[in-house]
Amino acid sequence: MNNKPDSTGLDNAGAGTRAVWGGEQVRHPYNATQTPIVASAAYGYDDIDVWYDVALGKAPGFIYSRMSNPTVETLEAKIRELEMAESAVAFSSGMAAISSVLYTFLAHGDRVVSTKDSYGGTNKIFEEFLPRTGVAVTLCETFDHDDLEREIAKGCQVLYLETPTNPTLKILDIPRLVAAAKRVGAVVVADNTFATPLNQSPLALGVDVVVHSATKFLSGHGDVLGGLVCGSEALMAQVRHYREINGASLDPFSAYLIIRGMKTLALRMRQQQHSARALAEFLCTEPLVESVNYPGLPSHPNHAVACAQMSGFGAIVSFVLIGGMDTVKLLLPRLRFAHCAGNLGAVETIYGPARTTSHVENTLEERQALGISEGLVRVSVGIEDTDDLLDDLKQAFAFVKKTFNPQLNEVHTETAN
Ligand SMILES: *Cc1c(COP(=O)(O)O)cnc(C)c1O
Repeated sequence: MNNKPDSTGLDNAGAGTRAVWGGEQVRHPYNATQTPIVASAAYGYDDIDVWYDVALGKAPGFIYSRMSNPTVETLEAKIRELEMAESAVAFSSGMAAISSVLYTFLAHGDRVVSTKDSYGGTNKIFEEFLPRTGVAVTLCETFDHDDLEREIAKGCQVLYLETPTNPTLKILDIPRLVAAAKRVGAVVVADNTFATPLNQSPLALGVDVVVHSATKFLSGHGDVLGGLVCGSEALMAQVRHYREINGASLDPFSAYLIIRGMKTLALRMRQQQHSARALAEFLCTEPLVESVNYPGLPSHPNHAVACAQMSGFGAIVSFVLIGGMDTVKLLLPRLRFAHCAGNLGAVETIYGPARTTSHVENTLEERQALGISEGLVRVSVGIEDTDDLLDDLKQAFAFVKKTFNPQLNEVHTETAN
């Protein structure tokens, strides 16, 4: 793929610098140093010929904000720098981005191969909506690379990957599956939301299209929805055309918030994944925890693959509590430095069970079929001090143990360290 960076002087810059300066090396009106929020539905022209040239794409400019908007274009330039892509297209949410990509590249009679473990909304597109349009969908066991290769080899137009997965943090071997897809000429799409462009560069690993929920780590403050798609100019032209018509465009106010959040992505991620590792290691020692999922742990079944294709392991940890939902209901409300909410990737730590977060769209039976236990809790680790997060979790576990076993002594349970 020819996803080469722009000649913006950022070619040799690190990801932290790209996050700050990507798309922002321009003079704004009034010499403003910050990207203006251009709140205009349409753009006016006195010269009808110039207007027509812009409309035909022969001259630079804007016509109508469903098609393009200056604030949104700055955001597209920023993610392009971070994913080192030729082109990018912004959407009103991650699901708008994902569904638009799938509907751009799949039509009646086509086939898509993916895994059972994709994000709940994505899973619904595969199970409920694509089959209605005559697209055949095959979802493989996420860990089963042999089966994925076999299904890809039967022929498909799109291979859709999500790694690490939500909420069980499974890892797919991107280069191996890309090689299989190239043999049948399929477009490979990867959801890079959990890894972020700092930890994983799918385009460099041969993926054709990267999708993001910008709602999560990219914006980073839990205050906005957005989706971003990156890839070659040729592929993005198709995606952009579909967005112009289906209208899932991002508004400039949201684009501005995502731009602002993205500038601190590298700083946030460094702190968040440092704490995530500490929390994962602590959880491994906690008797009320049955299993811990974090790709950075050597005990993770795909740790070697994660090391080969990721430069960091991200800020999401999940774990299964002994006692299932009863334990979840005791533990989560005791946490002081955490929201219990259906979001992730924000500066605050967020806890939630799969039932009300990643798989809120699914029934109990569907979750069981996907191997998602009712005791599974996902933690999106925030930027708080690591020790505070550890202490918080320890005091919450102490409370649960005391509730289960009231004879336990206060001195024991009020763990200081
Ligand atoms: C949240 C999420 C999405 C959906 O994004 P929205 O912005 O909520 O529409 C897709 N993929 C992953 C991995 C997510 O975490």
